[in-house]
Amino acid sequence: MRIDLPLIIIIPKSLGGYDQLDNLALACRRCNERRYNFVASIDPETQEIVPIFNPRQQKWAEHFVWLNQGVVIEGTTPIGRATCLRLDLNDTRYPEEDSIRETRRFWIKTGLHPPVDDPRQV
Ligand SMILES: [Zn+2]
Repeated sequence: MRIDLPLIIIIPKSLGGYDQLDNLALACRRCNERRYNFVASIDPETQEIVPIFNPRQQKWAEHFVWLNQGVVIEGTTPIGRATCLRLDLNDTRYPEEDSIRETRRFWIKTGLHPPVDDPRQV
């Protein structure tokens, strides 16, 4: 299986960012479109505005955990929760559209998911 991942600009050019390697990250089209040019979002638990996850500066495992054997991503910090909300990482806003949860169930069956190093709900 080949998956094409575009490079996205972490700090958007519209907010003073640049397109050098240290400001770029791989992202799927879905996440890139939902991220748009947002760099912050609301933590649904505290209602505070916090930065969204920066894959160049932060570690995934410190902000997220897989639930339901890898079907659902849950933010474990304000940054993780705000990122889940901003990117709708579990397709809760538009569940009828290309549900990522169905895709993850398929990946789990194939053994491709979740990544072995990622934390999971125990
Ligand atoms: Zn994605």
